[in-house]
Amino acid sequence: MNDTLYIVIPCYNEEEVLHETVKRLTAKFDKMIEENSISENSRIMLVNDGSKDRTWEIINELYTSNKYVTGVCLSRNKGHQNALLAGLMTAKEYADMVISMDADLQDDVDAVDKFVEEYKNGAEIVYGVRNSRKKDTFFKKTTALMFYRLMNKLGVDTVYNHADYRLMSKRALNELANFKEVNLFLRGIIPMIGFKTAIVEYERNERFAGESKYPLSKMISFAVEGITSCSVKPLRMITSAGLIVSFLSFIYLIYVIIGFCMGRNIQGWTTTVVLICLFGGAQILCLGIIGEYVGKIYNEVKQRPRFIISEELLK
Ligand code: UDP
Ligand code: MG
Repeated sequence: MNDTLYIVIPCYNEEEVLHETVKRLTAKFDKMIEENSISENSRIMLVNDGSKDRTWEIINELYTSNKYVTGVCLSRNKGHQNALLAGLMTAKEYADMVISMDADLQDDVDAVDKFVEEYKNGAEIVYGVRNSRKKDTFFKKTTALMFYRLMNKLGVDTVYNHADYRLMSKRALNELANFKEVNLFLRGIIPMIGFKTAIVEYERNERFAGESKYPLSKMISFAVEGITSCSVKPLRMITSAGLIVSFLSFIYLIYVIIGFCMGRNIQGWTTTVVLICLFGGAQILCLGIIGEYVGKIYNEVKQRPRFIISEELLK
């Protein structure tokens, strides 16, 4: 008996692309089942993340008309990462391996064969890594590069140029289920799982239709989320900055005392104002960083559910 593959796709207002995505994946499944590389029980799992358009209706239609399509509906919009997690946690009950993919066909469907091949070679996690960013806008390219650099500098172990296109085995998913954090940054957590991993390169396409659901504001908060939920380096940087400033202040203090002993007059209104502003700003910034972590702890201790499933269409 071949292993069962589930492809989990979070969908937020994706009415324009769903038919095409499912069409291509159906062709892929037909071929793979015929070639005996995956089992007939393999499924496409579409997760509706509180869409405001016809996404859920379309998923219902596809569920009745297509033998592979299953659906999960979240009770409201919870964001890409939570929607993905909801799908992964549902799929792992039925699948031997699960691939996560975006709805917009940016992730090359043909890479699925290579993912499965690596899985059969013993990899528990297979990362899809895009081989170029030719099709990205200059802005997206630079901001993404800055993001990866910053993440690595801050000690977050991410796979370069890997988004959320990956395969995970049932075993890896069962381990992922033990990560109970509410502040979810899958790209940072999954490398922590370990096991044997592999990388598959693929060409990333342009979005098939519709608009990106990640505007700049969401991208920035995603980056902050990634850093603060996987690393405490920013806090250490504050400590280091504090040490440096204390040292410099000490030297300045000696200079001031010597000046006082030598009878130098009090001048320096400018110096005082500059220093007050500078340190005032730096202190607020540091408090902000600490606050970010305090906020995270606040969210974690409450242990609220990361998603609520309102409907499931399984077969
Ligand atoms: N998505 C989601 N919930 C959200 C935002 C996005 O489920 O709140 C899904 C979206 O439908 C898509 C995937 O996450 O399948 C990635 O989003 P998108 O393609 O818009 O991001 P980009 O590729 O532009 O970074
Ligand atoms: Mg996309």
